[in-house]
Amino acid sequence: MEAISDVISSRTLHELENYFSSYGDLPREIILKHDLLRVGHWFTDAALELASQSLVKSYRLFSYDLMPMKDMKRKEHRKIPEWFTIRRGMYGLRPVSIQTTLDSSSPYVIDAVDGQAKLLLDGKEICEVYFPKPLKYYTRKFDDGTAYHEIIAFGYFVTAFRNCQYWGPDEECRFCDININARQMKESKDFTFNAPVKPVDYMVEVARSIEEDATEEVGFAPPIDFLITGGTILKTLHGKDELAFYSEYASALKWGGRRRFVNLQTNGQDKETMKRYRAAGVDCHHSNMEVWDKRLFEWINPGKNRRVG
Ligand code: SF4
Repeated sequence: MEAISDVISSRTLHELENYFSSYGDLPREIILKHDLLRVGHWFTDAALELASQSLVKSYRLFSYDLMPMKDMKRKEHRKIPEWFTIRRGMYGLRPVSIQTTLDSSSPYVIDAVDGQAKLLLDGKEICEVYFPKPLKYYTRKFDDGTAYHEIIAFGYFVTAFRNCQYWGPDEECRFCDININARQMKESKDFTFNAPVKPVDYMVEVARSIEEDATEEVGFAPPIDFLITGGTILKTLHGKDELAFYSEYASALKWGGRRRFVNLQTNGQDKETMKRYRAAGVDCHHSNMEVWDKRLFEWINPGKNRRVG
């Protein structure tokens, strides 16, 4: 995580406009999105106040931040939105959503101007910013205090296993901070659920609650997508191998409601394993290849390279 924050953290308006000219065939909103993810962004007090009414960032898998949580002195991690949308402004941008990626030293700052969130670069207003609204189930909690939205994020995302058994620099994928993220969440004491494994019955209840809200809203049971993800299980977890572990979540989600579409993310798998996931209720599998270049794959994904190749 600390290593990630060594990336470039400066940018001027002139440099941004040079990118626009150099890559004239790319939409400007995409160039800006890329830069906001690469350099990060920060929130003023006023923008934090506006954002605190939105769909709060879940830290669902990776942190996606360029700074550690312990340095977020205003508890930004419990106030910032999961993502935000940039729009209009001096470049007439079309709406594009961006994963909130904090860096207190970023030249990109979100501020409130006349009650509207705006994106500023070097103090100059670039465009409007909009935050996502929270979902109804975000207010619900289990009797032990666990917030529903810490079990399933934004009505979709289930990180069944919050750690990865690829451990340390010789194994973990280079872009990934799953293990560090789970640790910093726990240390912050600002989250209601810190165990590495999500209880299946909690997930089933939250999914039921999401489906109930959606049905109430549209008047019939709509199709609902879920994504199950989590760290790699090299040997066993709670006595189960990776296939058995993730299959239990897939079946519970798939058959626990009416029109569920279940996505699963794991390492690349062989055909037999995929058939068994399919039988367990998986509709779509993302094998997370990350990069197609053999040499880069060996370097970026040392653990996966040894196991999957
Ligand atoms: S397989 Fe790689 S990207 Fe996935 S959780 Fe493990 S270390 Fe992270």
